[in-house]
Amino acid sequence: MQPTSLAFEAKAHAALDNPALQSALGSIKTGWQAGRSRAAEALPEFEALRDRGRDIKNHTLQHLDLYLEMFETKLAAAGGQLHFARDAAEARATVLDLCRTAEARAVTKSKSMVAEEIGINEHLEANGIERIETDLGEYIIQLRKEPPSHLVGPAVHLTKDQVSDLFAEHHGGPRIEDPAALVAEARRVLREKYFQADIGITGANFLVAETGTIVTVTNEGNAELTQGLPRTHIVITSLEKLVPTIDDAFTLLRLLARSATGQEFSAYTTLVTGPKRPADLDGPDRLHVVLVDNGRTKMLGTALQEMLRCIRCGACMNHCPVYLAAGGHAYGWVYVGPMGSVLTPQFAGIEETHTLPNASTFCGRCEAVCPVRIPLPKLMRHWREVQFEKGLTPPTARYGLRAWGFVATRPALYRAVTRAAAAVLGLLGRGTGRFRHLPLAGGWTQSRDLPAPSGTTFMAAWAKQAGRPSEPK
Ligand code: SF4
Repeated sequence: MQPTSLAFEAKAHAALDNPALQSALGSIKTGWQAGRSRAAEALPEFEALRDRGRDIKNHTLQHLDLYLEMFETKLAAAGGQLHFARDAAEARATVLDLCRTAEARAVTKSKSMVAEEIGINEHLEANGIERIETDLGEYIIQLRKEPPSHLVGPAVHLTKDQVSDLFAEHHGGPRIEDPAALVAEARRVLREKYFQADIGITGANFLVAETGTIVTVTNEGNAELTQGLPRTHIVITSLEKLVPTIDDAFTLLRLLARSATGQEFSAYTTLVTGPKRPADLDGPDRLHVVLVDNGRTKMLGTALQEMLRCIRCGACMNHCPVYLAAGGHAYGWVYVGPMGSVLTPQFAGIEETHTLPNASTFCGRCEAVCPVRIPLPKLMRHWREVQFEKGLTPPTARYGLRAWGFVATRPALYRAVTRAAAAVLGLLGRGTGRFRHLPLAGGWTQSRDLPAPSGTTFMAAWAKQAGRPSEPK
């Protein structure tokens, strides 16, 4: 998928003018956002669990080579096979090769963001292999030929009415409005497809090194049918999903569902260790794990290593005022919201995506809710610095920042300039107490008024309140 992140601003403006999108995004606040808050309050050890989750991830990243080797050995002992892919092209080639070996004509697929990242959907279709998405949200966006707009709810940008129209158009029946009936209709269509698939492709939420186990969670049970019915199961996943032990996986699972949707646990949690064994009644004959690097090992030992703790819960976007206004498609690539603003420049290049680290008010809500305590604002600031160093910041901002730096590092000059500015603005805004238009503040006054200052600076007002004669010269 080619990034279109440089069009973020234009797309965000279009999103603000789209009432259906705004209505769909509004449901995140009352649903997942409120749910996370209730779930966190109901679990006394939630904050301690977040510390534990952070520590498990940090420990794994520090010993990634060890756990990777352990996982490969245990997976092989259980009958599975690991394929390491250095980049997206290598991962696509491996998956296609596995499909050809199995003479696959159709694959069922459950949600995998890494699969989106490597562009496997287009690649399979370009090579004549039918792809059937089995996650309800993914199925909806497949019909609409759209990318996902959220990690957990790929079709969260759509209203129920839009889905009703879509199903009526594609399924050929009467238009249904009842949500339960819509789900039943999708289930009826998809059930048939499961039996036609030669291969099932899933992602993985965690890879357990001590046992070679793959952990997946869903609320629909679709990953279980995807991996259990066809003869071959391919897992497309990435390095940072490794955890040392089953206990560690369960610690993170307790955080994942609460942070994502406010559930105590997802409806289905499946642990797969190897393909079907002789005594098993069902399951695939072959299990392949395609482990994608795609720039992740380059993040180790850098400022961005902390981002590899991400467990893809979506809480940061559910609480981000920018995401909740602009929606996921404005971000122009696979990963969206605050986590996407950090990851996308790494995977797709800062030159093509430098708008994203600026798509933040730095209110800090993303960091406050992240279950593994990733300092997202700090990491976005890192990209802003890279952007500035590479000369990608617009000239007005660059020269403006330079001028600001010059003034701000000279306290006497700073006080003189701010005193003069406060006095002039106080005088000009005396009549109405606000400005409708102000040079250099067009972004602010475009959609709201700027309150006029009182005519004095904050420092002077503070000195006066503290009983000092005046602010320092
Ligand atoms: S950055 Fe944190 S909050 Fe955002 S998806 Fe990842 S784990 Fe969840």
